[in-house]
Order: sequence, then C-alpha cells, then structure tokens
Amino acid sequence: MGAARHPDPTEEPSSAVEDYVKSIYALQARWEGPVTIGDLARRLDVTAGSASAMVKRLHESGIVEHTRYQGVALTQRGSQIALKVIRKHRLLELFLVETLGVPWDRVHRDAELLEHQLSDELTALIAEKLGEPTHDPLDRSARRRARAGDARGAPQHPWPERRVR
Ligand SMILES: [Zn+2]
Repeated sequence: MGAARHPDPTEEPSSAVEDYVKSIYALQARWEGPVTIGDLARRLDVTAGSASAMVKRLHESGIVEHTRYQGVALTQRGSQIALKVIRKHRLLELFLVETLGVPWDRVHRDAELLEHQLSDELTALIAEKLGEPTHDPLDRSARRRARAGDARGAPQHPWPERRVR
C-alpha cells in the first residue's frame, strides 16, 4: 500500500471526483446491473475516454472497484464520499428553501455548485439550524407544500440515508 497509489484518505476530493462518485452512487442505486463506463460517460456528458481515465484514477485512490462483471462499484470509502456530498446537497437545498425562501425549482443548481465548497463546520451549523434532519426532510416539506396547494417544483432526490445498503 504505497503512498502514491493510496493517497491520504482525509484528503479533500475534488469537485470532479465528487461528481463521479455521486453519479456512480445514483447509477448503483437503480439496480439495473453493473455500472459501465458508458453509463457514466452518458450521465456526466463526457467522452468514454474521459470517464475511463477518471475511473482508473478513482480505482488507484481506493474509491472504486472496476471489474468486468461487477462494473464500476464504490468502495466503502467511495460510498462515504458520496453520502457526504449528497447530504451537503440536501442540506443546502433545504436551507435555501426554508431559511432564505428560495423556490424549490431554483435550489438544485446552486446546491450542485455549493456542495463542493461547503466546509464540514458550515455543514454542521446548517444541519443544527435545520434541526438536524436525518431523513426525508425534503419529502416531508414536499408533502406539506402539496397539502397547502403549493405547486412549486418538488425536490428531485430522496434523503441519502434511505438508500444506504
Ligand atoms: Zn438537488
């Protein structure tokens, strides 16, 4: 286990790494067979060559396994990175909606950008401000809005803990 092949696991993953890891997580959650390089390339709108090069990097960093029959699969470390960034995304969306009053249909794009920059300290403060939501706060908010006849766009994703397996 050389230092070059397995970088410090506490090292902050780049935005690109986080986007790949999130996509692999989402594709794995669909239960439609192994995640292929082609699946990833399509989802991230990159060439197969780029996706292949990044998967090789992720493999060398201990973030994914890549085998012919299992496809691209997150390791435990990869799953942890995915859950952390997805949680930041959900918290940001909820914070923007509940605290700043931003409409639901406008929060996803900002959350996609901010999720990569949000420090753990600020994440903890936002979670505290929102009452430490642990699952489906967005779905509950969506149901509340639906009852209130609010037709604004519903959140696009479930809370990550639901899909942990
Ligand atoms: Zn979103």
